[in-house]
Amino acid sequence: MAKTYFYYSAMNAGKSTTLLQSSYNYKERGMDTILFAPSFDDRFGDPAIYSRIGLKENAILFDKNFNLYEYVTKVRENFGNLRCILIDEAHFLTKAQVAQIIAITKDFGIAALNYGLRSDFLGEPFEGSKYLLVWADEIVEIKTICHCGSKATMNMRIDSTGKPVKSGSQVQIGGNESYISVCMKHFIKNVEAITRYAFEKEGANI
Ligand SMILES: [Zn+2]
Repeated sequence: MAKTYFYYSAMNAGKSTTLLQSSYNYKERGMDTILFAPSFDDRFGDPAIYSRIGLKENAILFDKNFNLYEYVTKVRENFGNLRCILIDEAHFLTKAQVAQIIAITKDFGIAALNYGLRSDFLGEPFEGSKYLLVWADEIVEIKTICHCGSKATMNMRIDSTGKPVKSGSQVQIGGNESYISVCMKHFIKNVEAITRYAFEKEGANI
């Protein structure tokens, strides 16, 4: 039976590379795929998913109102053997879109491979990740490491001078800020006071 998978990780773990490799593997075996990516992440001017090691494949862009179930219902007959959909930056999915993806796997027997972050730069869960974590059939961690060598599980937003950003909107479009993945210890050292307080209240010695 087709399943919904959630491959989660911190930033820069190679999620897009893994996604593109998986799509390639399906195609190599004569199966068709559709790739989806959030529309505001159209960083390079064309609708495609890029990996840092130079791979690229065209993608269907989705915004918050895009209905993945309706889209797949409409186009799946155009494919000879559509067996898998792959979603880049799946943390940006809405709850409704995660439900649509689950329905696609169940109704059409199409596997859904979702790749995304668990939490934002303040340690809060993304909506898409929250529902993928509880609704996906399989949850798989893609591991990456902090500068200290421990496993990185959190994401830190840093400004152009390398200083951690401690407030702002969950979705950052443009600007000079970037992200690094860190372990929990180094995340807590840098998050804003209110988040530190929440950890301290729970007895964390930080
Ligand atoms: Zn660390």
